[in-house]
Amino acid sequence: MSSSILWGKYLVARAYDDRSDILSDGALYQEDGTIVDVGPYSELKARYAADEVIGGEQFVVIPGLVNAHHHGRGLTSFQMGSHDDPLEYWITEGWGRRGVDLRLNTLYSCTKLIRSGVTTVMYNHPTGLAARLKEECEIALKAFREAGQRVAFSPYVRSQYRVVYEEDDRFLSRLPRDLAARVKGFLDGGYIPEREYLTLFETLHREHAKDPDHKVNLLLSPANAHWCSDETLRELKRYAARFKTGIHMHLVESIYQKLIGLRLYGKTPVQHLNDLGFLGPEVSFAHGVWVNGEDMKLMAQNGVSFCHNPTSNLRLKSGIAPVAFLMQEGVNVALGSDSSAINEDEDMLQEMRLAHKLHRPPGVNSPSLTADQVMKMATVNGATATLFHDVGALEKGKRADAVLVRLQNLLEPYLDPSMSIVDALVYRARALDVDTVVINGHTVLKDGRFTHLDEQGIIQELKRALSRPLTQAERERLTLVQELMPYVRRFYESWDLGELAPFYYYNSQR
Ligand SMILES: [Zn+2]
Repeated sequence: MSSSILWGKYLVARAYDDRSDILSDGALYQEDGTIVDVGPYSELKARYAADEVIGGEQFVVIPGLVNAHHHGRGLTSFQMGSHDDPLEYWITEGWGRRGVDLRLNTLYSCTKLIRSGVTTVMYNHPTGLAARLKEECEIALKAFREAGQRVAFSPYVRSQYRVVYEEDDRFLSRLPRDLAARVKGFLDGGYIPEREYLTLFETLHREHAKDPDHKVNLLLSPANAHWCSDETLRELKRYAARFKTGIHMHLVESIYQKLIGLRLYGKTPVQHLNDLGFLGPEVSFAHGVWVNGEDMKLMAQNGVSFCHNPTSNLRLKSGIAPVAFLMQEGVNVALGSDSSAINEDEDMLQEMRLAHKLHRPPGVNSPSLTADQVMKMATVNGATATLFHDVGALEKGKRADAVLVRLQNLLEPYLDPSMSIVDALVYRARALDVDTVVINGHTVLKDGRFTHLDEQGIIQELKRALSRPLTQAERERLTLVQELMPYVRRFYESWDLGELAPFYYYNSQR
């Protein structure tokens, strides 16, 4: 048995919408990854003979943060050559990015997330080469094991509308024949057929779901409503029930995704999914910038989770999700950085800050978020969205996932005593203030250093791997994208965005 006491000047046990449970000189005692007791440090120290005591008056102990939507890109899309273009352009441009060693890139991503206090991540695995998908999933899962991070692992399936938002054959028919053939070859090599996807899920589930430490949840993932047939969506819902797991998916991330839903279904994608009987508490939507009031009601009624990605939505011109209204409606809203954080560093604490500042439309009566709500989004709500119901709070019986944040930058030289420690965290904390990260009772980061990962070694290996010239296949993909992009742009330029009635307004010409 291994045990430890974690303590700090403050311990944030659980965040609620309007307050948080905070203990002064608070501590937790954990055995083999399970929290046995939470209380004043002096009492716990007298009561338990722990193997190790970690902490001190210079720290605040918080629940491990949950990043509820991510793609495991350690190197950002900008580093790999993509500017922040509108989502629909950015996706196709991404095909031209050179390959990166998946193990190294995933480990690099884990180091950045852990450095900002993220102990659990929703990893939505993008498709690479269909023929290698099983192997890729194994590599990524192994990297998470190596990093010691808890992961909701959701490889996605995408089988239609793969270039733009219309049938692939129809779009390809307008391209020069040679280009169309090359694009078709790329699509066929890149996306796994739906039947094979289900077989892959069964295999992964059999091999990885029974983890005694509960560090892995295997989730299903249709890449988006319009990227799968209705039959596939129904089948995935059946699989979720059969395997008692969840479904994570992108939804109405951009206005074009809302419009294609209206064209395809004659109603919003959320309403269509509701008609299919797809909604439920095991379902989470990433982005959701373009949900409407009716969608929000359906999500709240069915217990659907919503994963907000503020930076990503700003960077890819998707917009600002109506999070303050979703929360008013009672929807469980979690937070993710989508491998696209504001400083290119996956700093979850800064993502929390952005979420706090973004939802503040003018007017004294307009809704906005409290710091406690943002803390709740990044902990308890994220735990619900990733189906790790045993994390997100520091309470007896929960898994011992906790973070020690240094108080120096938060409190010095002065912070008015009327400010709560949760306010201080959301207003001021950054990844560089994270000192120690404990996942399932194991210390993975201590004094700002990884205990078992060679962070610098990972960076140097990445540097070496990327110093080679582009391969023939990479050069061909780049040329393919350069030739294809004018057609993609032309496709969207003519779309009429219609009359809009935004939830938030920020200025006016009148
Ligand atoms: Zn995403």
